[in-house]
Amino acid sequence: MRPLDLTEKNPSKKVTIYFDGKPYEAYEGEKFPVAMLANGLYWLTTSTEGRRRGAFTFGPVPVKVNGVKNINGRKLVVKDSMRVERQRYDEFQEQIEIDEGKPILRYVVDVAVIGAGPAGLGAVEEIGGKLTVALIEERSWLGGDMWLKGVEQEGFGNPREAIEKLTNFPKNVRVFLKTTTLGVFDKGEYFLVPAVRNDQLIEFMAKRVVLATGAVDSIMLFENNDWPGVFRRSDALEVINVWNVAPGKRVAVTGAFPEEITPELDRWGIEYVVVPNPRRVEGEDRIERLIDENGNVYEVDAVIMADGRIPDINPITQAGGKVYFKRGYYRPVLDANHRIRDGIFVAGSAVSIKPHYANYLEGKLVGAYILREFGLEAEPCIYEEKLRDYEPVARPISKLPLDGFSSEDVQICGCGVTLKKVDDVVKSGITDLQIIKRLTHLAMGFCQGRFCLFNGALLVSQRSGTPMDRLDIPVARPPIKNVKMKVVAGRD
Ligand code: ATP
Repeated sequence: MRPLDLTEKNPSKKVTIYFDGKPYEAYEGEKFPVAMLANGLYWLTTSTEGRRRGAFTFGPVPVKVNGVKNINGRKLVVKDSMRVERQRYDEFQEQIEIDEGKPILRYVVDVAVIGAGPAGLGAVEEIGGKLTVALIEERSWLGGDMWLKGVEQEGFGNPREAIEKLTNFPKNVRVFLKTTTLGVFDKGEYFLVPAVRNDQLIEFMAKRVVLATGAVDSIMLFENNDWPGVFRRSDALEVINVWNVAPGKRVAVTGAFPEEITPELDRWGIEYVVVPNPRRVEGEDRIERLIDENGNVYEVDAVIMADGRIPDINPITQAGGKVYFKRGYYRPVLDANHRIRDGIFVAGSAVSIKPHYANYLEGKLVGAYILREFGLEAEPCIYEEKLRDYEPVARPISKLPLDGFSSEDVQICGCGVTLKKVDDVVKSGITDLQIIKRLTHLAMGFCQGRFCLFNGALLVSQRSGTPMDRLDIPVARPPIKNVKMKVVAGRD
């Protein structure tokens, strides 16, 4: 077994790949960064500023594959004898590509459900069989965040078994995996939901839309928070439970919600230490130690940011929704039927942070409201009642030790934007996030602010003394992901 493998892998799939000329054991179909991690190798690419980067924190992961530059290493799948080399970011831009030469696929449905986590699956369970549904999911799996869990989940029991039961869809539910929606637009009686699968544009026309687009991991600000070996919460869960590889030999779990990670580490017997307030990580090609705000030093080789999740507000503001600040995060303003406006419903952790089962119930609730709008029988009050048992999670608002940080070493945004760069602008008196975006490029890259805008707001709030609920949060402009048009097929 490779040094960080947690299980034996299928020997018939064993292959050799080369990284910077050196051979490594890998398995056909495995993700390239996972294969490298299993071999104990974290540093895969280098930012424009010369910072070493891995694939599990944030920021682009361009690599050279078989001589071809600018391949996204994060998504690269292992093939026998593949030769990969490190490169600098250079002109690489993480983008979704649409091949203009390919015909546009068009589907007309009653309901488009965006996101196949517990909330989306709950909505589909409620309306499937009664209305035509397109279930659109960006990732390659169904079950969203719950698919990444290994330990039993309240209300569901074994997460994998629960998801399998929920994904026994009736015929009138069509599932689109690896399909990213780019926004929701009005089109007469319908909503137009453009999406991309591989490099093909798909247009969904739907009478109702459910945004079950979930939440994003909160990114913790500490020195060298982009270092190879720093893991975002969901990436850590994925390597452990989907790929059965350990993030490291000895792991530090940081942030306000360590319990989201520690049971998973216990399950596999991975050694860890809980460090709520990290200040800095250090090392060469990978983390060697973590220092906390009190100056304690921990010898670890990986750090997992377990600081909870915040609703992804981009799909909501793009679709015309408004947000407000409550319990430590921005969340959508909804009417009594869970709509941001007529026809567009929101369910799950896109609404508020709560257990998977509550998000599933909220999906069912929204499904019941939709059935009623179509004149069909439904009893939303059953789910309204059950949901009263769940109080959404409150996130503490972290106080950044701004003046104690070496802020040029803190990445606020994966696209090479340091805390210092943004802080200098804020300190000069500019506190309008829209202007800060333009001046610093915060929230202008692939994530379009999903991960970094919240920390930008936190910084402005802390420096200016304006409470988070009084800040003007920029709305997401369509498309909600960076898209590039290209012509490959069907043209000269
Ligand atoms: P929970 O947070 O409890 O898991 P949930 O269903 O509210 O429940 P997620 O599990 O995070 O939330 O599921 C949301 C899903 O939405 C994810 O699988 C994510 O990949 C998907 N998603 C988010 N944005 C898009 C998009 N633009 N297009 C397609 N799918 C999306």
